[in-house]
Amino acid sequence: MNVATDSCFIGQRGEMPDRFCSAATWERADAQWPSHEPRTLICTRVCAETHDVRSFVFSTRDGQLFSFEPGQFITVSAEIDGKEVSRCYTISSPPTRPYALSITVKRVPGGVMSNWLHENMREGLELKACGPSGLFTPCCAPAAKSLYLSAGSGVTPLMSMTRAALDLGLNRDIVFVHSARAPEDIIFRRELSHLCALSNKLRVVHICEAPGGEPAWTGPVGRLSLDLLMRHVPDYRDREVFVCGPAGYMEAARKMLREGGHDASRYHQESFNFAPPVACPPEPLAEPAVQSGFTVQLARSGRSFTMDASQTVLVAARKAGVPLPSSCSQGICGTCKTKVLEGAVDMKHNGGIRPREIEKGMRLMCCSRPTSNLVLDL
Ligand SMILES: Cc1cc2nc3c(=O)[nH]c(=O)nc-3n(C[C@H](O)[C@H](O)[C@H](O)COP(=O)(O)OP(=O)(O)OC[C@H]3O[C@@H](n4cnc5c(N)ncnc54)[C@H](O)[C@@H]3O)c2cc1C
Repeated sequence: MNVATDSCFIGQRGEMPDRFCSAATWERADAQWPSHEPRTLICTRVCAETHDVRSFVFSTRDGQLFSFEPGQFITVSAEIDGKEVSRCYTISSPPTRPYALSITVKRVPGGVMSNWLHENMREGLELKACGPSGLFTPCCAPAAKSLYLSAGSGVTPLMSMTRAALDLGLNRDIVFVHSARAPEDIIFRRELSHLCALSNKLRVVHICEAPGGEPAWTGPVGRLSLDLLMRHVPDYRDREVFVCGPAGYMEAARKMLREGGHDASRYHQESFNFAPPVACPPEPLAEPAVQSGFTVQLARSGRSFTMDASQTVLVAARKAGVPLPSSCSQGICGTCKTKVLEGAVDMKHNGGIRPREIEKGMRLMCCSRPTSNLVLDL
């Protein structure tokens, strides 16, 4: 997550706040889903988007409505081969359709959760999820003109934003430039073309590395470049830019925009971190006491372990055989958010926690190192 997102505020640059940033639009009193609260979702539909991407649509058993901001993600958990596995997935549906929530998952070769979902998740089955998190949302930067840049499964947050903008009838000028390997890999191709037919304010450009199985492909071929951007979006410097895709793509997009004179304070990005989670030894260390330094007490479970400040609380807890909930291990997803009841930590996060949560004593264990003994609300 880009820190530029944090620095934006509603109504920046003299624009009138619109319904994208009005909390009342997304947060109905009966529809709150606090980010740390687990819910059980029921799968109502599975939809093949491409040969290796599927959307999974969920509702709740009691018909509770979903409330979130477009661009946010949930953290889903499942027991796979006897182990609890958690991963983040962006909500691809818009908050304007609160009765259902969808995630759109690309199979990652060798990946645990993405393959498990593709092979197992079916209509009627349950999935545990923790509530919406994330700051990659246009609510913090409600510009009249936006440029959405995505590659591969990075399309999902931008799709939620686009669907929401159209549902709300917002007079937003959006150019959506999506990169794919080949035409058959383009996610939401039909729906995006349908949305373009509904609104002359939305323009979609698909760039393919190669024509693949569609030799008649007439769209741009290659990779996103400044030359291509200038040709298709000549006013890109006037636009609030939201970027999501693989790390290399985002790095290239950021560099390209900087070289093209785009204002960096109007650039926002979301990282889908595919790195495997921090390795966890199967058994607790025989003698956790060999780690000296600070004592960490878990108030609710009554467990404790010792650690030094060379590692994060999450890693030390795992080494001591006390697994904490976690997902991205990079301070992005917020799964390991925990209240520090006593003591202090040095936290270096990447946008996975809000200032008001920090004020309330919450910290992300994956990027926090102790500076004193700790008592955690766990
Ligand atoms: C905020 C956020 C939002 C996201 N939204 C989406 C989304 O909308 N759609 C989507 O498809 N994805 C999304 N992701 C990515 C998603 O969370 C997962 O990372 C992705 O699905 C892969 O998970 P997995 O369990 O299948 O793979 P993992 O099991 O985590 O494996 C990932 C890769 O690491 C390799 N690997 C695993 N273990 C090891 C090991 N021990 N040694 C070496 N290599 C190993 C695997 O082969 C694979 O290539 C998002 C991520 C974040 C952080």
